[in-house]
Amino acid sequence: MLALAGYQLGIEFRFFDPNAGAPVGQIGQLIAADYGDQAALERFLEGVDVVTYEFESIPVSTAQDRLLEKQLFTDLEIPTPPFAAVDNIQDLQRAAARIGLPLVLKTRRMGYDGKGQAVIRDAASLEAAWEQLGGSPLIVEQFVEFQHELSVIGARDTAGREVFYPPIENVHREGILRKSTAPAPSVSPELASVAIEYCRRVMDRLSYVGVLALELFSADGVLLANEMAPRVHNSGHWTIEGAETSQFENHLRAVLSLPLGATTLRGNTVMFNIIGHIPPMDRVVAVDGAHLHLYGKAPTEKRKVGHVTLVAPAGTDLEPRASAVRAALGLGSDVS
Ligand code: AMP
Repeated sequence: MLALAGYQLGIEFRFFDPNAGAPVGQIGQLIAADYGDQAALERFLEGVDVVTYEFESIPVSTAQDRLLEKQLFTDLEIPTPPFAAVDNIQDLQRAAARIGLPLVLKTRRMGYDGKGQAVIRDAASLEAAWEQLGGSPLIVEQFVEFQHELSVIGARDTAGREVFYPPIENVHREGILRKSTAPAPSVSPELASVAIEYCRRVMDRLSYVGVLALELFSADGVLLANEMAPRVHNSGHWTIEGAETSQFENHLRAVLSLPLGATTLRGNTVMFNIIGHIPPMDRVVAVDGAHLHLYGKAPTEKRKVGHVTLVAPAGTDLEPRASAVRAALGLGSDVS
């Protein structure tokens, strides 16, 4: 999606991915090798002006460690759920005594889409969770009974100028994003400015260049930071049709030192992820104004293979068309 936004601007691309079947190979030159393959990296870099990435689990010290991330939030006075580092079962027991149950135990690195996580609801499950995940460094957090999950997406350029999209409301099932709504219906203007301010603090502290997403829980009117994603984000896919400038174009503008584009909304939007199967295309596109994006990925269980976005002028009701999309995608009412 970054490349699709860039081709319009006349930018040429070369891609690096360990997977030789990566969908991006369908649209440009793909160098498929391990991230540590020096010769392949050199071939990749030859003649390249700018390198950027859209997957954070690459071997560099970025925002990969959930513990360092939460410590950064605390340092920036961004509230988080109570948390503790866990290196042995005693750490976990101590944390349970201090924070209370339920808890979420997570691997500090390489986890995404709910992978590498265990919810601990009673003291008897502490050992089992440790057995399941122990062996790599862990973090344990309070399981937050939030009302909403939100994200804020910002872009910062090489001169430190910043733009932000309005907060987005996200629905996850089994740790995987299913639906995003923008602007977040539950968020007051006051809460929206707090969320944006938190995102700004993170980007400023890191002297960040590009698009960054901050994921938040909204619990009883308080925002708690869950994690950040130093890249274009799934909860911002709606910006392709729903904002004046998409997150993809703004990321490219940022890393290329071009002026950032307006983040103004074109209306109210909703985005549904397509997970694990390719839906009947005719039914999806039959919904008035449904924008279907398929990524050219082979569908496997829990794999994101595409998304659908709907945009409606502010003041009109998106719900009838949203439920038609849900039906076409075979989604249950739990993704409402
Ligand atoms: P993460 O990989 O940290 O984004 O977690 C994936 C999903 O698990 C989140 O989007 C939440 O739905 C849920 N989750 C993660 N951490 C917590 C927590 N501390 N309390 C409640 N739910 C959580």
